[in-house]
Amino acid sequence: MPDSNIYTQFHRFVPPEEKGRLLGQKGIVLWMYGLSGSGKSTIAAALEQSLHDEGRFVMILDGDNFRHGLNSDLGFSDEDRHENVRRVAEVAKMLANQGVIVLVSVITPKEALRTLAREIIGDSFLEIFVRASYAACAERDPKGLYAKVAAGKIKQFTGKDSGFEEPEIADLMIDTEVVQPSEAVEKIKKTLASRIHRA
Ligand code: ADP
Repeated sequence: MPDSNIYTQFHRFVPPEEKGRLLGQKGIVLWMYGLSGSGKSTIAAALEQSLHDEGRFVMILDGDNFRHGLNSDLGFSDEDRHENVRRVAEVAKMLANQGVIVLVSVITPKEALRTLAREIIGDSFLEIFVRASYAACAERDPKGLYAKVAAGKIKQFTGKDSGFEEPEIADLMIDTEVVQPSEAVEKIKKTLASRIHRA
């Protein structure tokens, strides 16, 4: 637990709305989740480029990158996945509060983890389920992980011996077995349009 002698400081800082005004946008977190290889990073990268080209300030928080840095002490147990999501969500929240459009790409396999992220981030949270079947992801295998899993070289792999709960409802669902990345970008931008605009 935090020390009871710690006093958070916000009142002395430039208010978040003024940061957003400087950027001409409202901060938001797009939380993209789905199996490894479902297309989260591909769509995030295309979306970042498209929004950037329109003069938006965007940042991608990529789960794999986090696991190389801030979260390099974490593995894939349920507790570590919880801590992984908690840290990414806290960072995403800080950035969105400063007016940044944050694209998160993290597997986030359980409803409870999505709830955790939503609770940390609050109103500026939008969840996007990037869907593809295990078989389709294994076929794509962009990082060679599915081949390693089939050879018994990776444990606690999502969708195999660590479960993935599909959502009952998501703010948006992109089925990447049907929708191409460019269409996904347009779909997400339509949903975003009313949320990021700041006059
Ligand atoms: P993730 O970030 O979810 O682990 P990646 O984006 O790294 O997944 O990998 C997805 C792979 O699937 C890429 O090689 C991409 O080119 C391919 N792919 C095929 N069809 C699609 C699609 N419709 N949308 C996104 N990615 C797709």
